[in-house]
Amino acid sequence: MSSATSPATGAAISPEFVQALRNLVGHDGVLVGDEVRSRPAGFFRADHLQADMLVRPRNTGQVAAVLRLCHEARQPVVAQGGRTGLVHSGDAAPSELILSMERMAAIEEIDPIQRIAVVQCGVTLQALQEAADEHDLAFPLDLGARGSCTLGGNVSTNAGGNRVIRYGMTRDMVLGLEAVLADGTVMSSMNRMLKNNAAYDLKQLFIGSEGTLGIVTRLVLRLREKPRSQDVALVGIGSFANLTAFLKHMDRGLGGALSAFEAMWDSFYKLVSTPPAKCSPPLPQTHPYYVLVEAQGADPERDNARFNAVLESALEQGLIADAAIAHSERERAGLWALRDSVLEMVRFGMPFLFDVSLPIPHMEAYVEEVHDTLRARWPEHHCWTFGHLGDGNLHFGIIVPGDAAETHPLVEQAVYEPLARIGGSVSAEHGIGLEKKPYLHLSRSGTEIGIMRTLKRTLDPHGILNPGKVF
Ligand code: ZN
Repeated sequence: MSSATSPATGAAISPEFVQALRNLVGHDGVLVGDEVRSRPAGFFRADHLQADMLVRPRNTGQVAAVLRLCHEARQPVVAQGGRTGLVHSGDAAPSELILSMERMAAIEEIDPIQRIAVVQCGVTLQALQEAADEHDLAFPLDLGARGSCTLGGNVSTNAGGNRVIRYGMTRDMVLGLEAVLADGTVMSSMNRMLKNNAAYDLKQLFIGSEGTLGIVTRLVLRLREKPRSQDVALVGIGSFANLTAFLKHMDRGLGGALSAFEAMWDSFYKLVSTPPAKCSPPLPQTHPYYVLVEAQGADPERDNARFNAVLESALEQGLIADAAIAHSERERAGLWALRDSVLEMVRFGMPFLFDVSLPIPHMEAYVEEVHDTLRARWPEHHCWTFGHLGDGNLHFGIIVPGDAAETHPLVEQAVYEPLARIGGSVSAEHGIGLEKKPYLHLSRSGTEIGIMRTLKRTLDPHGILNPGKVF
């Protein structure tokens, strides 16, 4: 694990500084020392927070006041949501101040006519999903960490997840936002409309920039009508050519209803469907590829008939070898549980996780190349391949023998280096943080990174916001 290098100097944490913060957010709004360091650092990791100070503001005004103070004191600040990020974007060094959004968890408004939600950034994804559901609406972003991750974190990483093929990334669901700049300036851009071309769309600067340009405090999010039908099947497929042909077949045949297309290579399928794994295999473990395919629509009977007919024609055309169709809510959940059983990897050790993106025509050869490199270097290794194939997004979970500090960079090179050649991305949906900083140049040009630096200097001249992250 690398540590942040900070261009800001960082105030020595003095009792006066802590008192000044308490004057702004109340006594119990500031945690210090062991109160901070006893907190777990996050999901998929065993360490604890290292920072000396953690501040818990309740509203945008308090965030602005805290940042004004930090800006004057050149005190580095790291914003944290649910700490479920996977690239160390929210890591804070001992001298950095953590701005935790845990007390900014209000759903301020749901407007079923305009179909929007107005929320504070610390609301969890699941809380908004449930609140929307009560109004017969849906917030369609969905990912495994839904119960812990916050909407502010989803926005700052531009999270993807399971239904991007239908609804897009988080960016596509944000209509407006409020952000606090490094010097405490509040930019309130709480647009409620789907269309607004009144000059630059400034909110985009804060979406996916991992807390380096400003702290997102409130959001206007787009809601959708709640789907009335959900059809799910697991299919077994004999070749990669048939996998991509099946994607086109389903998308064409379902007329816009395709809502997930989750591929699993056989190694992943065996991992999640062999005891002691909790799931049992709905299809034999003999196919090289499996896909969880889902459609959402408005008319359960007709949608189900069409879903089955499109699957049947795929079977007749030889695109798929076998299919298990879910007939109940329990069976639908059972098929999704296979795809969501990522934690089964931990039985074999702590895996290195990847979320690469690449053009689908290059995917088969790319996966083979990664597997070949791993096999040549570590004959005894695990590599589980799965992902949101419809989005061109693959995940690898990789375990190799040896000391992680030595092997991690070698595995990263095996996964990332071929991507530059084929126009892929080192991050499809997790972000850059600290983990992928050394590899950003494989996916972004010097010119692009130069413009990013110019924006950073302009909005955060003292470099106090999430210093050392991204580039
Ligand atoms: Zn994913």
